[in-house]
Amino acid sequence: MFKSGFVNIFGRPNAGKSTLLNALTGEKLAIISPKVQTTRHRIKSFLNGEGYQIILSDTPGIIDPEYKLHEKMMKAVKSSLEDADVAILLADVYDDPEKMDKVFTDLHLKGNVILVLNKIDKANAERVEQVKAFFSTRPYGKEIIAISALKNRHTGDLLKSILEKLPEGEPFYDTDDMTDLPQRFFAGELIRERIYELFEQELPYHTTVVVREFQEKTSLTKIIADIVVNRESQKGIVLGEKGSMIKKLGTLSRISLEEFLGRKVFLELFVKVRPKWRENDIFLKEYGY
Ligand code: GDP
Ligand code: MG
Repeated sequence: MFKSGFVNIFGRPNAGKSTLLNALTGEKLAIISPKVQTTRHRIKSFLNGEGYQIILSDTPGIIDPEYKLHEKMMKAVKSSLEDADVAILLADVYDDPEKMDKVFTDLHLKGNVILVLNKIDKANAERVEQVKAFFSTRPYGKEIIAISALKNRHTGDLLKSILEKLPEGEPFYDTDDMTDLPQRFFAGELIRERIYELFEQELPYHTTVVVREFQEKTSLTKIIADIVVNRESQKGIVLGEKGSMIKKLGTLSRISLEEFLGRKVFLELFVKVRPKWRENDIFLKEYGY
């Protein structure tokens, strides 16, 4: 008897969805950042085990659409609701439970739901119990598991609970694969992650990365990417004085890419100004949103 199905992780930005996905799969596929809204796409990753295949997906955080980009992100959230065999509602144990209750109730989830309280490594037992008690009265709170995705605590209990709920069936994807997205997608995500690290405040939110070339050569992978920003002034910031920032970004990105791909990388970065790319359907489509 083989079990296989789709498990989707929902939660407010910063709840730890990407961290949980990485903890469960043991692979660094989803980018993680203390800044919100770093995950703009749905990423599916596969957890292949003895007798099962779990197709996990990380979703952009639940937010109110402010720009067109946000609307697209919310569509991605909804689309993952529709194909889930098991939905994981993830909350930071220090999030306001009343606020989270509104968000989770609005999802109108039917079917298998696991409410997961994350970041218990920074909470005391009393807080965890209080929040558990609050949610246990809710329709989506029949099953509650408290974990630390970061420290990998009780993620095994979560896996067990997922497996109990997973339907019987053949694997959907090749059991040797890890993800449905090509490496070039992750290359762009890794560069974006470095942008979140290097630049302050608003800039990363005005930026996207388009991988223009991703070529596997015999001794290295050649990657050419555009850093797309909204305004000339932002281009100046990304370049830095005498190109110092883009150089730094290039070096850090190359190191991450080499680690991820397990081979040498030749990386070239360009900065492009595309005014209001976040509001423009043609640009959004071109950038894969
Ligand atoms: P997402 O927006 O829901 O995908 O959240 P991320 O996975 O990007 O995590 C947001 C921030 O919370 C990052 O700084 C993570 O390191 C941190 N984080 C995630 N899980 C835990 C956890 O279990 N404990 C603690 N202390 N921090 C966590
Ligand atoms: Mg994320």
